[in-house]
Amino acid sequence: MTAAYEAVIGIEIHVQLRTASKMFCGCAADVQTAPPNSRTCPVCLGLPGALPVINRAAVRHVLATGLAIGARIPDVTRWDRKNYFYPDLPKGYQISQYDLPLAAGGSLSFDTSAGPVTVGITRAHLEEDTARLIHRPDDTGRQVSLVDFNRSGLPLMEIVTDPVIHSAEAARRYAEELRLVLLAIGASEAALEGGQMRVEANVSLRPVGTEKFGIRAEVKNMNSFRSVERAIGFEIERQTRALEAGEPLVQETRGWDDDRGLTYRMRLKEDSDDYRYFPEPDLPPFRTDPAWLAEIRSAMPELPAARRQRYAAAMGLSPYDAAVIVGDGAATALFEGALQADPSLPAKRLANWVTGEYLRLPAGTGVAPAQLAALVRMIESNELSGTNAKEILARHAATGETVRGIVAALGLRQISDQGALRTAVAAVLAANPDAVADVRAGKAQAIGFLTGQVMKQTRGQANAAMVQQLLRDALEG
Ligand code: ADP
Ligand code: ZN
Ligand code: MG
Repeated sequence: MTAAYEAVIGIEIHVQLRTASKMFCGCAADVQTAPPNSRTCPVCLGLPGALPVINRAAVRHVLATGLAIGARIPDVTRWDRKNYFYPDLPKGYQISQYDLPLAAGGSLSFDTSAGPVTVGITRAHLEEDTARLIHRPDDTGRQVSLVDFNRSGLPLMEIVTDPVIHSAEAARRYAEELRLVLLAIGASEAALEGGQMRVEANVSLRPVGTEKFGIRAEVKNMNSFRSVERAIGFEIERQTRALEAGEPLVQETRGWDDDRGLTYRMRLKEDSDDYRYFPEPDLPPFRTDPAWLAEIRSAMPELPAARRQRYAAAMGLSPYDAAVIVGDGAATALFEGALQADPSLPAKRLANWVTGEYLRLPAGTGVAPAQLAALVRMIESNELSGTNAKEILARHAATGETVRGIVAALGLRQISDQGALRTAVAAVLAANPDAVADVRAGKAQAIGFLTGQVMKQTRGQANAAMVQQLLRDALEG
């Protein structure tokens, strides 16, 4: 029965754009920290007669996203009214885009454990966010619903993929890759936990080898990348079990319960809700000025795929190390900063320190790029042993002291001086006649013991390779 069904997944992602003000009014967009209902005006409260004005910065973010994913940007676009009734929507309609989105087509490519994947993107459009509903008991214990209009009218980009994803892992990787693109172009904070990036997954199954799509469930409430993968994995299993048992599926919206590790029905979903879309009469059609597009294109920073490619092809990093560094903003900044501080550092060595020791430190730990560069440089020039270097990095991260300062304070500079090492070797040989006899009798592992004794005597400072050579010279002579 295994592999009888193929999963078909399409992803919708809503992204809160990084702007100073809201989408259609001048209210400040700093709503993460502002007190409830302190960022409102007649426009975003939906009062009669209030007129919207387009936020250029928000349009720019969507155009930049479109260019980054290789989408077509139409010459003319417009906004439409999407009509529905819900307490988080004060106007009774949402200003959105229907048949003329700001960006159409495009794709994102990335690696998965099963190989490279390219996901076709259907469209990216610009709309306004809704108010936030809070359901909780009031002071008397009565269950109430509160509305915070701070979020009402924030600029929101929706990006929709084609139904072309076939595994939970690829779906998670798509969302991660999109987040990296959004961070690179500065379009959004794009935090799933903070709600600036909201992922919804449409999941259906079809018999392997067939074309026709099955009945889909749309899964919501996934607040981390791990949840995205777990929720889709659960949904694929649930639908597989139902189909194998001959139970019919229904088109529905399901919520992910992270604690219980399952999806549950929220509501049934008709094929197409009747939103009675029509062109927004209060906004003129929007022309995308070619000169502006050209300027956005020329200001485009290096995108994650290109950066991974550069790290691997031009710097010789493994594709894995390149992906690990590019996947973490702080690691990327550290790696780039260290290379800037010391451009002739061997990039692969530096990458090992970033992916190994740095990323093992508690999240958010600060390592100064110039200090990491100094550390790797000292290892390269045999001034520092790898073991002591780890200790020094940890102390720099904890205290902010410079690497050279710590080396001096702890007296950890590696001993590569022939004379000093010869003295230490001679002392160890004199103190360990049994081990010396073992080596002479052909027991090679005794060399390791003697090397260890020299390291101990020099508090880890001896250049281990030199010590081994000196031991061999002394014992062969
Ligand atoms: P809505 O969910 O708002 O009705 P669409 O019908 O356009 O919007 O579909 C939204 C998403 O669902 C898209 O990413 C699309 O690729 C995906 N999708 C559509 N049909 C299926 C299906 N049968 N199985 C899986 N994903 C699907
Ligand atoms: Zn407002
Ligand atoms: Mg949908």
